[in-house]
Amino acid sequence: MTSFKPASRLIDGALHINSTALIDALPHLTYQDDVLHIDGVSAQELRAQYGTPLYVYSQNALLDNYHAYVSAFSALKDVQVCYAVKANSNLAVLSALAKAGSGFDIVSVGELARVIKAGGDATKTVYSGVGKTAQDIKTALDAGIGCFNVEAVSELDLINDVAAALNKKARIALRINPDVDAKTHPYISTGMKDNKFGIAHDEAIAAYQHASTLAHLEIVGIDCHIGSQLTEVQPFVDALNKLIELIDTLANLGITLKHVDLGGGLGVRYIDENPASVREFADALLPKLQDLQARYGLGLHLEPGRNIAANAGVLLTSVDVLKPTAHKNFAIVDASMSELLRPALYESVMAIVPAKLDNNAPTKAWDVVGSVCESSDFLGKERLLSVAVGDLLAVTGAGAYGFSMASNYNSRQRPAEVMTANGTHRQIRARETLEDLWRGESV
Ligand SMILES: *Cc1c(COP(=O)(O)O)cnc(C)c1O
Repeated sequence: MTSFKPASRLIDGALHINSTALIDALPHLTYQDDVLHIDGVSAQELRAQYGTPLYVYSQNALLDNYHAYVSAFSALKDVQVCYAVKANSNLAVLSALAKAGSGFDIVSVGELARVIKAGGDATKTVYSGVGKTAQDIKTALDAGIGCFNVEAVSELDLINDVAAALNKKARIALRINPDVDAKTHPYISTGMKDNKFGIAHDEAIAAYQHASTLAHLEIVGIDCHIGSQLTEVQPFVDALNKLIELIDTLANLGITLKHVDLGGGLGVRYIDENPASVREFADALLPKLQDLQARYGLGLHLEPGRNIAANAGVLLTSVDVLKPTAHKNFAIVDASMSELLRPALYESVMAIVPAKLDNNAPTKAWDVVGSVCESSDFLGKERLLSVAVGDLLAVTGAGAYGFSMASNYNSRQRPAEVMTANGTHRQIRARETLEDLWRGESV
């Protein structure tokens, strides 16, 4: 914590990002001879080879971020890190994590299919989500899913019925809504009474008792996921305390569990957020988790998404048009809300840095926008930058909820994705072609 150095400040209402300071704070990104490099690969070279807009992910960063969890929780037995696929579901990302031993958290059968295609282990996969259908449940049981994180009492009956028809037993955990304030943006807060997610804390015991009467369910766990981009550990501690109350009550009723799942949600540094580190997160939780392990033999599941993928990725984009006006200056780039929705959807403030540093160039306040026909189509507002047509910019922190939220809105072709590793690079998804735009359509 003491090493935290802010990388931005407001100058006359415009955001000035000290690119060097920001990049220094992000592992696997460097300026070498003033050119941005990802895992030692030049952003300019990547543009020359693959074009823009372009997503670039550092495999080293992904794996380091995964291993940070494994090592921070190594004092505990039976820890399963289940990477949340929705953060970045490219097969190469899933494959790298699967090879490292990761499990997965999925929210659809589409994500399950990706996990299996990438060589992931269905038995190390947990299935979250509020709207599972009988067909979804059957597909997951056929694949050998590790656990359903059940979000409604009616889902228990449905899973039981589907499992009965297949003559199987389904492993389940109940996702509890612990009613704690995650202190994050309301759209990414999921653990309060008003949210659609999970089973209310007050109804949890009755739901477990009901589950215990259903012959085709095996109760294995208790789960929560309280939100995303949490910077403090206290909400996680509060949530765990709520779960421990339930675990104790359940034990008294003779309902024993095998694991507790604390979901995902630990935040990252986009610019000047100062989130708890994985180590601090673990240190805050470990005493209670070790106690649970000693008393009940409980293992741990975690479901980090953003924390593993966000700062492993950048979105490279080129400046197409400059439009200075009397009120505002617009830098129109070739990425937009179609490729990167977070600023439009959550008013996220993401760093935009030049691929080529020139600290002496004069700066102006620019709104960095795409060319989609929406006023919410911006990547960053009021940024002090020095830009010229043809310049290459990088949006950092774009490895999570970037490509996975991309759409074809305005009939834009979704970008290519590239993986870097130790100075090498390879394409892991081709840029969409025009034909891809109407695949499956007919006149
Ligand atoms: C989105 C999600 C996650 C991952 O959240 P991050 O903030 O990306 O870590 C984990 N579990 C569930 C159930 C989710 O919906």
